[in-house]
Amino acid sequence: MIKKLLIANRGEIAIRVIRAAKELGIKTVAIYSEADKDCLHTMLADEKICIGPGPATESYLSIPSIISACEATGADAVHPGYGFLSENSYFAEVCEACGIIFVGPSKESIEKMGDKIEAKKIAKKAGVPVVPGIEESVKNPDDIALIKEIKKIGFPVIIKAAMGGGGKGMRIVNSEESLRIALLTAMEESKKAFGSDKIYVEKYIEEPKHVEIQILADKKGNVVYFPERDCSIQRRHQKLIEESPCSVVNEHLRKKIGRAATKLAEEIGYYSAGTVEFIMDKKGNFYFMEMNTRIQVEHPVTEAISLIKGKRALDLVKEQILIASGEKLRFDADDISICGHAIECRINAEDPDKDFLPSPGKIESVTFPGGNGVRVDTHIYAGYTIPTFYDSLIAKLIVIGTNRQEAIRRMLRALDEFKINGIKTTIPFHKRVLQTQAFIEGDVTTNFLHKYIYEQA
Ligand code: ADP
Ligand code: ADP
Ligand code: MG
Repeated sequence: MIKKLLIANRGEIAIRVIRAAKELGIKTVAIYSEADKDCLHTMLADEKICIGPGPATESYLSIPSIISACEATGADAVHPGYGFLSENSYFAEVCEACGIIFVGPSKESIEKMGDKIEAKKIAKKAGVPVVPGIEESVKNPDDIALIKEIKKIGFPVIIKAAMGGGGKGMRIVNSEESLRIALLTAMEESKKAFGSDKIYVEKYIEEPKHVEIQILADKKGNVVYFPERDCSIQRRHQKLIEESPCSVVNEHLRKKIGRAATKLAEEIGYYSAGTVEFIMDKKGNFYFMEMNTRIQVEHPVTEAISLIKGKRALDLVKEQILIASGEKLRFDADDISICGHAIECRINAEDPDKDFLPSPGKIESVTFPGGNGVRVDTHIYAGYTIPTFYDSLIAKLIVIGTNRQEAIRRMLRALDEFKINGIKTTIPFHKRVLQTQAFIEGDVTTNFLHKYIYEQA
C-alpha cells in the first residue's frame, strides 16, 4: 500500500487528491511553485515543498524537480492530477524507474492514446466506431492523393493535431479552396504548441454532442464503465458545463457506448481511471474521438450520480489510488446504477463578455454556495491572488438533483449564492446558459454558445 503520496499538481485538483489520500490514511506532499506559495493546496497537505519558479516549465512540468521532491520527502507514489505531466509517458516511466508508483496507467497506455491517430487505429481494431477520416498523418499538403482522400470524406472537415489537447489547434475547413492553407497553418501551429507537426483530418460532425465514458480498470484486467457524461457546452472546443446522464441517451445506447469504451480499454490492457470521448450525431451514432488517460476535470458529476450496489459510494480518485496499489476492483459494470442528475459548472477567472479573456487578480471577498446537493471543489479564499501562470479554472460547482429540472434549478440557486468579488468570473455566463430555453429542454450541442448565446449578445 502507498504510504506517502506526492501530488504533482496545484489548485483544486491537488486538493481533491489530498482529500482522497487523507481518507485512505495516506500521508500527502504538496509541491508548489514560487508563484503558488499561498495556494490552498500547500496548506492542506501534510508536507509541502517548493519545486521552482512560477513558469510551469520550470516547476510543475520539471520532471527532475518533481523526482527530487519525492526523494527529499520520501514519497513512494505520485498523483499527476490533470494537465501538466498527467499524460506524459516519459514521466510515468521515470517514476517507475525511480521506484515511485505512478498513480495512473502504464507508460505504454499513455503513449498509445497520446497519439490520436494511433489511438483511432487501435479503436478501429477493437471494433469501436471512429470518426471517418484519413488514416495516416498529413505529410505533404500538396499531395494529390491526400486531397482526393479528404474530398472523399466530404466537407466540412476538421484538422486536428495528433498530439493535441486542451481544445487547441483545431481547424474546421468548409471547402477545397481553403484546405491547403489550413493544412499548412495547422502543421505549423501544432509544431509550436505540441512540439510535433503531426496532423490529421476527419469528418466535422455538425451540431453534435460530446459524450464521454468514464472507465475504471484494475491491473488484473477488470474494466467497468460508468454512465455517460454530456460535455457539449463548450467554448473554443473546451468544456464549460458537464452533466450526467445525457438527456438523449437511453439504457440501450448507454450499454452500447459503455461497451465500446470497455473494448478499447481491454484492447490496450488499460488500468487506472480513464475517459473515452465520443462525438454523437443527431441520430445517436457515436464515434470515438480520443481517450484521456487521466482523471478529468468533470469526474465529480459521475461520482454524484453513480450508485455502487445501490449505495452512493464512488470516489474515483480513491479508486485510482487503490488500483495503483494493486487492488482489485470490488464491483463490476452491472453493480453500477444511476440515481438523479448532476451538473458541473466550471468557474473560471475569465471575462465572459470579453471572449473569455483571462481575469487573474486578487479575490477581495468570496461567499461559497452550500446546502443540499451542492459540492464546491476549489482552492480560492478571500485575499487569495490568482497567479497569471496557470489555467483559469478557480472552482468547480457541482449539483445533484433528483432529475435534470431540479438539478438546473439547484445550480441556478447555487450560482446566485456564489459571490466572488475582485475578479471577473464565468458565473454570470453560467446563469445565462442555464436559463436558456434550449438548455432547459436539453437541446445541448457543441454549437450551443454560437446558436443561443453569442448571436443574441
Ligand atoms: P478534461 O478532459 O478533463 O475536461 P480539459 O480538456 O479541460 O480536461 O483539460 C484539463 C486541463 O489540462 C486543462 O488545464 C487543459 O488546458 C490541460 N490540458 C489537457 N491536455 C493538454 C495538452 N495536451 N496540452 C496542454 N494542456 C492540456
Ligand atoms: P482535445 O484533445 O483537445 O480535447 P478532442 O479530440 O477531444 O480534442 O476534441 C475536442 C472538441 O472538439 C470536442 O469535444 C468537439 O467539440 C470538437 N471536435 C473534435 N473533433 C470533432 C469532429 N470530428 N466533429 C465535430 N467536432 C469535433
Ligand atoms: Mg478531448
